Amino acid sequence: MTPIEQRNELLAGKVIKSLKTRHIDGYYCATAEEAIRQVMELMPAGSSASWGGSMTLRDMGLTKALHEAGCYTLFDRDLAQSPEDAQAIYRQAFSADFYLSSANAMSEQGDIVNIDGNGNRVAAIAWGPKRVIFVVGVNKIAKDLDAAIKRARGTAAPINTVRLNRETPCTLDGVCHDCHSPNSICNQIHIIRNSYDNGRFCVVIVGEELGY
Ligand code: SF4
Repeated sequence: MTPIEQRNELLAGKVIKSLKTRHIDGYYCATAEEAIRQVMELMPAGSSASWGGSMTLRDMGLTKALHEAGCYTLFDRDLAQSPEDAQAIYRQAFSADFYLSSANAMSEQGDIVNIDGNGNRVAAIAWGPKRVIFVVGVNKIAKDLDAAIKRARGTAAPINTVRLNRETPCTLDGVCHDCHSPNSICNQIHIIRNSYDNGRFCVVIVGEELGY
């Protein structure tokens, strides 16, 4: 194991311990491939699932693997034929057994931070689907909650506006201007700081850089 791999495992172990105190399950997977297997182990065949807009889930191949497994009912927004179709899928997501998401940032103490423009993702995370599984690369872990919010707003959001080619000030210079643009993707900020002890939230930390 390289020093980086050792450090990632140690850091993930610390975060998973912190999550436990907040009644959130945690797993560590050294690679994205292992994480796909872990997520699918958590999801019994026959379950329904949906997910939010996430480069992590797509790039690591998780959404593709779920389709290929052929044993899940999937509400996949990427298959929407129209904006109305997409809205219907967002609503179907609330009744899913599982909702999958990455996080824009996490703190070492176990806070989970997500920023949303439309609100469908943070709404489904907050309530609706029976279980929520987060898949989070170690690159998203910040020192504390303040640093996690700064990461989500100052790093993740401007990269996403550039990716989406949004007409926002950060698309022009890569820096957050705390804008009130109608095109802002930072309309709602959601923080999970604790959970009921009902196994609803689970975090799979991956020892690789995933997403922004
Ligand atoms: S400038 Fe606006 S859209 Fe860009 S990161 Fe800041 S709040 Fe979000």
